[in-house]
Amino acid sequence: PTYYNQDTILYYNGEYLKAAEAKTDLYSQTLHYGYGVFEGIRSYRTESGETRIFKAVEHYERLKASAEALNLPYSWSTDELIEATYEVLKRNDLQNAYIRPLVFAPANMGFNPNTESNIVIAVWEMGLFLGEKNLRVMTSPWQRPNPLGFKIQAKATGHYVNSILASQDAKAKGFDEALLLDMSGHVAEGPGANMFFEKDGIVYTPSLGNILPGITRATVIEMCEELGIKVEEKKITPAELRSADSAFFCGTAAEVVGFESIDDYIFPQPWENSIGKKLQKLYKAKVTEAGVAVS
Ligand code: PMP
Repeated sequence: PTYYNQDTILYYNGEYLKAAEAKTDLYSQTLHYGYGVFEGIRSYRTESGETRIFKAVEHYERLKASAEALNLPYSWSTDELIEATYEVLKRNDLQNAYIRPLVFAPANMGFNPNTESNIVIAVWEMGLFLGEKNLRVMTSPWQRPNPLGFKIQAKATGHYVNSILASQDAKAKGFDEALLLDMSGHVAEGPGANMFFEKDGIVYTPSLGNILPGITRATVIEMCEELGIKVEEKKITPAELRSADSAFFCGTAAEVVGFESIDDYIFPQPWENSIGKKLQKLYKAKVTEAGVAVS
């Protein structure tokens, strides 16, 4: 994809600048050590034509919590960042967009803390995805980072080395995506999405602790409650997943996308009749709903 061109504007430390002209410091501690935090957010054109950032408050609150977890200075309010994001979208004439805020450190080649951070908010066009094709997923030989070694609940840049290793490996082996286990061998999540499965009409998902607490995951749990579907958060073994009726990933970028298979196990429930499909439809309705404060 083309992330920016000569006209693209981004928000950078309180200013609106041309992306092509914005500068950063090659001595940034984030660039060298992966010590930064970020978000992945989406905006949608609603049915009534306005632009709405989906779950804006939740995403910026998580950004702040991620920064605090890593001891990165964070001096912005959620309100000002949401306002800046709407302004960047407007200046780039975008409605259906992916929004990437990044909090990064100044020049610092040591491991000592900083007195300030930088923030950039970049946006680029991204239409509805909503799983046009179900995924052939591979159980990755790469485990998720050990929560005793990382603040796994934070969306930290350095954690994504693990995501890249797993995703590239699965694709090199002919699959669409990886599913990672945690250090105890339980099912954790995808490289950039949380996982759910359906068995005998009940929906299961890994409990919090060894995964990113996804905002879409929380939305899916809420939607199940709305639909009167029972959801259970628990430790899940790979064997349980291999006996499930259907399964899906969910995340801001991925939205809701079904699994065709995990390794050589093909999910028996036709996707069209699955709970995942119902949730996929309801999710689409929610993100593009007119005139309702989705926050
Ligand atoms: N897990 C990981 C590792 C992720 O990178 C993401 C994407 N942020 C998710 C889960 C899903 O989170 P969310 O629904 O908040 O986008």
